[in-house]
Amino acid sequence: MANLFSYWEQKSFFSGFDVIIVGSGIIGLSASLYLKLKQPLLKIGILESGFLPAGASTKNVGFACFGSISELLKDLESRTEDEVLEMIDMRWRGIGKLRNNLGDSAICFEQNGGYEIFRDNETDLANYCIDKISWFNTFLKPVIGKHDIYSVSPDKIADFGIQGINNIIKNKYEGQIDTGKMMMALLSKVQGLGVAIFNDCRVQQIKEDSVNKNISTNRGSFKAKSVILATNAFIKDLAPELDVIPGRGQVLITQPIKHLKIKGSFHYNKGYTYFRNIDKRILLGGGRDLDFIGEETSEPGVTAIIQNELEKILYETILPGQKPKIEYRWSGVMGFGKDLKPIIKEISPGLFCAVRCNGMGLAMGSLLGEQAADLIQI
Ligand SMILES: Cc1cc2nc3c(=O)[nH]c(=O)nc-3n(C[C@H](O)[C@H](O)[C@H](O)COP(=O)(O)OP(=O)(O)OC[C@H]3O[C@@H](n4cnc5c(N)ncnc54)[C@H](O)[C@@H]3O)c2cc1C
Repeated sequence: MANLFSYWEQKSFFSGFDVIIVGSGIIGLSASLYLKLKQPLLKIGILESGFLPAGASTKNVGFACFGSISELLKDLESRTEDEVLEMIDMRWRGIGKLRNNLGDSAICFEQNGGYEIFRDNETDLANYCIDKISWFNTFLKPVIGKHDIYSVSPDKIADFGIQGINNIIKNKYEGQIDTGKMMMALLSKVQGLGVAIFNDCRVQQIKEDSVNKNISTNRGSFKAKSVILATNAFIKDLAPELDVIPGRGQVLITQPIKHLKIKGSFHYNKGYTYFRNIDKRILLGGGRDLDFIGEETSEPGVTAIIQNELEKILYETILPGQKPKIEYRWSGVMGFGKDLKPIIKEISPGLFCAVRCNGMGLAMGSLLGEQAADLIQI
């Protein structure tokens, strides 16, 4: 009886890996990058269940951000100042590493600033956040290295042409990237260093013998000395004991808009809703807080309850008096947990994980990939 794969294929494509990474999102790809930079001769493979990377890394809105004031105040209600500062530090350093690894032009990084908007009926929240600006500027200085991060910018309401907004807090150090270009650049960089990426390859089980990890997939069984799980919201399939809960984020994008005034990364409602300009369009997402239970899923999909609310904000607040068509709607799944801190650890000898970015993995992903790579001793 014939085997499906030749001897050569078995020997070169399925075996002999020093490290196999499961998941080709920003963390998995960054882990492979740092492993290759440290030890160029390592044989590294990435197994990805999607035809494309199919997680949050290609579905997000491309904010290079570290937190709006109302969002950070919410975090401080249940976490210590040290914990919150550590997360902001990881986001800030992660953004720096992403920019260094790929270059600003490859990822279309633009520091257009971040803007937290408060609606007319939210004057109390706006005033509370504005009162905290000076505290936050001092609090974040050791991490961001600047003292003038947040400022009140009500003049921007007219510049942006938004309606029903009573105030804006600007964060001058936030930026935005082109998510698709970033992921293409990262894929191309690691493939250029010799990392083999296998798509349409879903890992079903990992077992070990005395020498290897045996990684069963829908395409066949791979062998490697070490494995890094970088499957984020989908980790339950492979490591159910980890505290990672899926949280879906829904997004829509308009057709191009003539004379678009919006420029920057915008946060609303403690970071639950967000929008930006891209290619003369508005990209708008969030609204998970409208249906936490329904959105606690790793299934793709959009729902009327959230999409209708996003459209309401779009037409009433962001683009009053205009009604551009919505060209695409999609969703992506993030990994959340009780603890703000990502899980980067050795689960059992030779089996590692780097997951749970609490919706901030675009910012933190490069740093977390490096931390995962540092765990591997070969
Ligand atoms: C709508 C939205 C907006 C966001 N906005 C921001 C933002 O503004 N700023 C920010 O910093 N972050 C943002 N994020 C979060 C950020 O995108 C994620 O935290 C980050 O992309 C997670 O990267 P990752 O590599 O851990 O996981 P993922 O990108 O999810 O990658 C995991 C990969 O593992 C693969 N996989 C899963 N199971 C298996 C298996 N069994 N076998 C093989 N492969 C498998 C998946 O297909 C996937 O490609 C947003 C996310 C969404 C959805």
